[in-house]
Amino acid sequence: MPNTDSEKKMTDDLKSCVEFHGHICPGLIYGYRVAKEAMKLMNLSRAVDEEVVAICENDSCAVDALQVILGTVAGKGNLIIKDFGKNAYTVLSRSKRKAYRFSRKTHYDYTGKAKKEFDRLDAAVAAGTASEDDRRNLKRLKVDDLLARPFAEIFTTTEVPFDEPLYAPLAPSEPCAICGEMTMATKMMKLSDGRQVCIPCSEKSRK
Ligand SMILES: [Zn+2]
Ligand SMILES: [Zn+2]
Repeated sequence: MPNTDSEKKMTDDLKSCVEFHGHICPGLIYGYRVAKEAMKLMNLSRAVDEEVVAICENDSCAVDALQVILGTVAGKGNLIIKDFGKNAYTVLSRSKRKAYRFSRKTHYDYTGKAKKEFDRLDAAVAAGTASEDDRRNLKRLKVDDLLARPFAEIFTTTEVPFDEPLYAPLAPSEPCAICGEMTMATKMMKLSDGRQVCIPCSEKSRK
């Protein structure tokens, strides 16, 4: 049963993100808002192949919403994770030859009654004294806030030079000379005796 404002108001595409990710959380909402904004700015639809590329500067929950909404997914080569621990994302369109970078600019910003509750919960979580309910309520406040605020209050948007990323490499596979498992030729390492081996085998043979 929906039990919060945000869950009642959830759009179908947000529901799909929650289903894929497993739970609703502030991180997922960051990714959701960024994906929707990128679609609006560049008039994108979900990538069937690699026509949209996302570069995520973290490996958090947000990445999952980008995968669902933009079709920039782990197995297709159009999701690039540079784990700098930054709440920032660049979305590129190959057909439009455009790219935008979105970067989180603020902390949560509450006023009045909500602020008091937010500060209390935030302090309790920071001090390690928060109950299960406190944690859930803080998460809900954050999710509601991130869904309700105008995008420009949460993220700065900058058009960046379109620097086309390479397409995902396609390469034939060859058996590794040590373990015999099929390995992409471009990922194989050459041992000093000239044998071509997979990365785990090359690391073991160096020990
Ligand atoms: Zn999450
Ligand atoms: Zn091997």
